[in-house]
Amino acid sequence: MTTPQKDKLSKDEILALRSKHFIPTALHYHKKPLELTKAKGEYVWDEEGKKYLDSIGGIVCISAGHNHPKVKAALMEMLENDDIQHSSTLYLNEAPVKLAKKLSEHLPKNLTRWHFTNSGSEANEAAFMAARQATGETMVVNLRHSYHGGTSATLANCGHYTWRFRSQPVTSVTSAMEPYCYRCPFNKTPDSCGFECAKNVETTIQTSTHGKIAAFIAEPVMGVGGFISPPKEYFQIVAKIVHQYGGKYISDEVQTGSGRCGGSLFLSSELDIAADMITTAKGMGNGAAIGGVVMTDEIAASLAGKSFFNTFGSDPYPTTQARITIEVIEEEKLIENARVVGEYLKDGLKQLMKSQKLIGDVRGRGLLLGIELVRDRTTKEYATEETARLMDLCRDKGLLVGKGGLKGNVLRIAPPLTLKKEQADFMLKVIDESLSEIAK
Ligand code: PMP
Repeated sequence: MTTPQKDKLSKDEILALRSKHFIPTALHYHKKPLELTKAKGEYVWDEEGKKYLDSIGGIVCISAGHNHPKVKAALMEMLENDDIQHSSTLYLNEAPVKLAKKLSEHLPKNLTRWHFTNSGSEANEAAFMAARQATGETMVVNLRHSYHGGTSATLANCGHYTWRFRSQPVTSVTSAMEPYCYRCPFNKTPDSCGFECAKNVETTIQTSTHGKIAAFIAEPVMGVGGFISPPKEYFQIVAKIVHQYGGKYISDEVQTGSGRCGGSLFLSSELDIAADMITTAKGMGNGAAIGGVVMTDEIAASLAGKSFFNTFGSDPYPTTQARITIEVIEEEKLIENARVVGEYLKDGLKQLMKSQKLIGDVRGRGLLLGIELVRDRTTKEYATEETARLMDLCRDKGLLVGKGGLKGNVLRIAPPLTLKKEQADFMLKVIDESLSEIAK
């Protein structure tokens, strides 16, 4: 820790200063908020030295593991050498181009052109702008229950009332029905639904646009929405519709685009999504503030002649951290590990359903797993308070997990991709014990 101990603020002081100086949207997990001060691998420590298995990674950002030695060494070497911290794309530097080259090894051949940002929101903003420029259209189709960021255009495309503000202008966007199998908006079941939700994208275009669109945006697993994980066919039907109506398909891989789902670095490749743009952030930087959008040559060409700039977006430190993170993911075969340990964990969670009646659904891919809690499996009444209680109980037992879903009733599990089976066993034990306590 760099703060000298004598200057260390107490937890109460931190909270008081947050209340005084932060806007009130700065919420915290847990009734008794947790202060985290140290992190290594899959673990984090609080200010009293208590150790936790970190199964949420801040907010789905830790892929290679906290403070990975190779990432740390690269950054320390840069600091030791007085490597330039900020130069912007107005000067040449090798770090961002090396990152673009590394990422392209994991992308379909048609996605070639990168624009790096500091966040996922900015990556999606850039994607909307590029789609609108390339098509000459303005309408963007999003999905209910989606989340794409906290900036103006991204918030306008957000499918959650809790995240939207009264003043949020919702211009030139429209929403299609959510592909949420557990709570199908068409009251169908996956075996015989005929992909009504995918077809609804066409109905939405036909009924709330002039018949041409700029873009469709969707997360391949809906993160904030509660790890809603539609089947592969959904995306293929939708991509065809989007292209038929002249739109660009934006695959928002801010949460999924770091190998987390266990098949490829970008889930769009594994699901064969014919994306025209992919956006990413979070786990890409393993904790660094970096995001980016990659697009086709054709879309990039439509931007030529304009100025578009992001002051910090291609700076050497975050772009190096992202490149080394991907190298670690490759060298340590972390995508495969996410698949193997993720399947093991998912099986274990499904087993828990036999005895733990609060679990309504277990879903997700790789190490991006959601547990939807319901008070009654027939009525599917949201178990919102129980989910908050479960998080608190897990924390008391040394396990950090997140939550999401429109009603905050989905426990979210997104640990570092280095997670081991023994750690998955620990998770299962803690969740099982905590659910039993709640059931009492
Ligand atoms: N897209 C998705 C799918 C996200 O989950 C998030 C963040 N939760 C964003 C975009 C926005 O990313 P950021 O907070 O880095 O702007």
